[in-house]
Amino acid sequence: MADLFIDGEWVSGAKGLTREVRCPADGALVATVDEATREDTERAIRAARKAFDDGRWSSVSATERGKLLIRVADLLERDTEVIAHAESLDTGKRIIEARYDVADIVSSFRWFAGLANTNLGRVVDPGTTGTFSRVVYEPVGVCGLITPWNYPLLQASWKVAPALAAGNTFVIKPSEMTPSTTILLMRILQEAGLPDGVANLVLGSGAEAGAPLAEHPDVDMVSFTGGVITGRRVMAAASVTVKKVALELGGKNPNIIFADADLDAAIDNAATAVFLHSGQVCSAGARLLVEESIHDEVVDRVVAIASKIRLGGPFDPAAETGSLISRDHRSKVAGYVERALAEGAVLRCGGSAPVGPAFDDGAFYLPTVLDGCTTTMSCVQDESFGPVLTVETFTSEAEAIRLGNDTIYGLAGAVWTSDMGRAARVANALRHGTIWINDYHPYRPQAEWGGFKQSGVGRELGLAGFAEYVEPKHIYENLQPAASGWFGESEQNIT
Ligand code: NAD
Repeated sequence: MADLFIDGEWVSGAKGLTREVRCPADGALVATVDEATREDTERAIRAARKAFDDGRWSSVSATERGKLLIRVADLLERDTEVIAHAESLDTGKRIIEARYDVADIVSSFRWFAGLANTNLGRVVDPGTTGTFSRVVYEPVGVCGLITPWNYPLLQASWKVAPALAAGNTFVIKPSEMTPSTTILLMRILQEAGLPDGVANLVLGSGAEAGAPLAEHPDVDMVSFTGGVITGRRVMAAASVTVKKVALELGGKNPNIIFADADLDAAIDNAATAVFLHSGQVCSAGARLLVEESIHDEVVDRVVAIASKIRLGGPFDPAAETGSLISRDHRSKVAGYVERALAEGAVLRCGGSAPVGPAFDDGAFYLPTVLDGCTTTMSCVQDESFGPVLTVETFTSEAEAIRLGNDTIYGLAGAVWTSDMGRAARVANALRHGTIWINDYHPYRPQAEWGGFKQSGVGRELGLAGFAEYVEPKHIYENLQPAASGWFGESEQNIT
């Protein structure tokens, strides 16, 4: 079965190339999918351009667009098990986590279905002085959507749902490692009745299948989620045609625990903050900042939790977390830990791959705690995107804030304290896009998600996540047109 979806048809790539997708937990073959080349992506862009320009989707009423998105949400919910299963096989994540992801994906579609009917436009001048002036919001046009491998369909839904709600057409390119659920989404969009050419899918490498989405003059906007280095590349490529750009990049997120916090809750959540999905979460709480007086207790207890976390495949009911996405990625994480130790970090647990037949064919890495870290170390500044926690200490509120902001990133952070005045001060002072007070990880589709500084440009979700996909236009109408007499030889111009 062909896997590229272009202009309403399932097709193979022009060069007939394919790629194997393997489960990172055991290396088993999941699928062999078609691989797009640059010319396939350009074909998909042409289809999306035509579909946008002839208005087959943008001229559909907002109510009908919203109804279609609700239908998509219902179909996704119907297919929860199939989608969760495919996501688990591609990513190696536990099936229970994949089911939570599908619930979040459904919520994302429902949220943007509601917004389809929310017209952001307004009347600026109602006409009483002879002019009628209004601002209308129109779809941006053709959107290039590029997504990563850690939450493949969730990240896709944060782009596809608002793009469609606003009346755009798009070409999406998922990570080459995790294409399966985006293929399923395209089938659901087709089943829901989306007109041909509105949604297009290309699979393949970033350099070949993805790059044209940032470069091509017929793409009006590129929305990218991935690493900061690729993000810079996408932004530079998009600058040639001055495209609208939305970037959701990495994070190095501080989790700050004050001595007056509820320590049972703070310590338990400190482990979940970083070890959920083996740390492959952009908002992972990978930097633990602990008030000095409670350092030993907090670190000992976090190490005790980390040392007992059970690793396993996606369908192992005893597993508490899964494999990394690939052995290449595991090598990067291992290299990051080696550099940290060379810089003086103290290894408290982990620091290697687990041993045993259950792990031999996978890309597992043990939950790792590095104590004695400081902001000058690369392990504190760089994103490992693995199950690695660095620990720093502070002695005052001001120092906690200074350390929490000492990063090029600004995606998320948390503060644990029973002093609500302090919680508010710290939350206000941290320059990150999401701040949790006495919690870690929850998000709401109604609330904006995204980063300050090098964590990105623009926002997903919330109202701003919809506004990314529209362009405001001011329409000024003179209700009593008359010659202005500014130029020429009319009487009033001659003094
Ligand atoms: P990545 O940057 O390697 O790849 C992301 C996507 O970009 C993939 O589809 C890839 O094929 C494509 N790509 C690569 N080179 C390209 C190019 N030159 N032009 C166009 N596309 C190209 O990232 P990844 O390893 O898949 O994902 C992990 C990263 O994503 C982490 O840094 C993580 O923090 C980040 N992330 C951020 C968020 C967020 O919401 N801020 C969410 C999830 C992941």
